[in-house]
Amino acid sequence: MSEPVLEADYVIVGAGAVGMAFADTLLSSSEASMIVIDRRARPGGHWNDAYPFIRLHAPSAGYGVNSLALDSGRIDRSGWNEGFHELASGPEICAYFDRVMHERLLASGRVAYLPSSELGADGVVRCRLGGARKRVRALKKTVDCTFADTRLPATDPPRFALGAGVRCVTPGELPAMSEPCDGVVIIGAGKTAMDTALWLLEQGVDAEAITWIRPRDAWLLNRANVQPGFEFFARTIGGFAAEMEAARDASSIDDLFARLEAGALLQRIDTAIAPTMYRCAIVSDAELAQLRRITRVVRLGHVKVIEPGRIVLEQGTVATSERHLHVHCSADGIPSRLPQPMFQGERIVPQYVRRCSPTFSAALVAHLEATMTDDAEKNAMCTPVPPPCVPRDWLRMQVDEARNNAMWSKSAELRAWLAGARLNLFSPLIARAVQEPDPVNTAILDRYRTAVKPGLARLSSLLAGAE
Ligand SMILES: Cc1cc2nc3c(=O)[nH]c(=O)nc-3n(C[C@H](O)[C@H](O)[C@H](O)COP(=O)(O)OP(=O)(O)OC[C@H]3O[C@@H](n4cnc5c(N)ncnc54)[C@H](O)[C@@H]3O)c2cc1C
Repeated sequence: MSEPVLEADYVIVGAGAVGMAFADTLLSSSEASMIVIDRRARPGGHWNDAYPFIRLHAPSAGYGVNSLALDSGRIDRSGWNEGFHELASGPEICAYFDRVMHERLLASGRVAYLPSSELGADGVVRCRLGGARKRVRALKKTVDCTFADTRLPATDPPRFALGAGVRCVTPGELPAMSEPCDGVVIIGAGKTAMDTALWLLEQGVDAEAITWIRPRDAWLLNRANVQPGFEFFARTIGGFAAEMEAARDASSIDDLFARLEAGALLQRIDTAIAPTMYRCAIVSDAELAQLRRITRVVRLGHVKVIEPGRIVLEQGTVATSERHLHVHCSADGIPSRLPQPMFQGERIVPQYVRRCSPTFSAALVAHLEATMTDDAEKNAMCTPVPPPCVPRDWLRMQVDEARNNAMWSKSAELRAWLAGARLNLFSPLIARAVQEPDPVNTAILDRYRTAVKPGLARLSSLLAGAE
């Protein structure tokens, strides 16, 4: 059967944050035409299926597409993010990407959008509503913006079994729950579990009524250290300096994490437990204090089955009941995947080029595509900085990111783009501190400059297992 064929210079698969950020920068940095395909009905990717109380955990100022701010510059004046830059909610993020699609991408006349459309392995695009089929042809390249393979409780059922009568819901179902329960059991150790715990506490659930099944504990970033805005210079750029000083002076990886914790650069919920996980989750001091209120923590490995009267885990059992509410927060989020070269001839696979910065990374990869021709040269600018999983990845990401920064600094064109890039959050702070020197900020910059080279060298040797 012959299907109608749509053509454009670039076919972008995925209208999540990465596909949108890539398309936006390609639009700015080139004359190219594009087709954007997504199986979801709206742009924004996984945010469309997120629980209603989700928020970004890093400031909105560093998220979204390069050409349009997601934030309004607001500092929160209440709540557990008080004093810090705003964090967009899931609905705000979806509305933002909808606006970017309609007011920017489609309005350009150079972008076609196929929502509710799935690209199959056979190259055919099928409309999920009605089954219409078409083919898309990339005159230049196909851009695979599905690499993150995001997994959410709403779309990925639990991997543990559920006995008859057991009440188990996703975080998204919680706000509509009205039946009383004897207690809530949170299953999971990541950001979704933390968000759920905070939301329950905010709703007035007693901390003693919450059981938290946490197979692993995580190192958490401190939100005070990732604030944009010059007024936060000392904390943010001072934090970078302190990270490099900790690295430079560390006698071992354990000693490094002890130093990072002593400097309030990394933190953990329970200071008696050695974290075995690191996934770039960010919390404020106020959130950390709330999370510490939950003391019924079960560390017996992963759940295997929840039966009406007990939960069977890898290393033991705990009691539960049919009157307890179990919350599945155990989807993988962003699964670990082996990195790939980003430029692969007729295919581009955007991945992170900076620590946990999905949209900055996609924008930079798009800009390189628009301004450079040789794949080997572009790949040399784009060592993948994969999302972290274990504490060691904190070291690995610093080293990989530094390699990219060094490559970028060699290109005058890219330096100019970075200087004006909205998503390049912290460089303008440094530029301003240089232009408007004052003794405090200059001292911080000096500390950073002194520590960065030996710090990175030390991280490399720790990673190589030399110590
Ligand atoms: C719970 C959670 C919270 C997060 N919070 C933050 C945060 O605060 N800050 C931050 O920087 N990052 C955060 N992240 C990281 C997050 O993954 C990225 O921010 C980003 O949203 C991922 O975007 P993406 O486009 O790579 O993936 P997705 O959002 O998964 O988008 C990929 C899109 O591709 C589509 N697709 C896949 N295959 C096909 C196909 N064959 N045909 C058509 N369409 C297809 C999917 O429908 C999907 O819409 C969070 C991640 C999770 C899971």
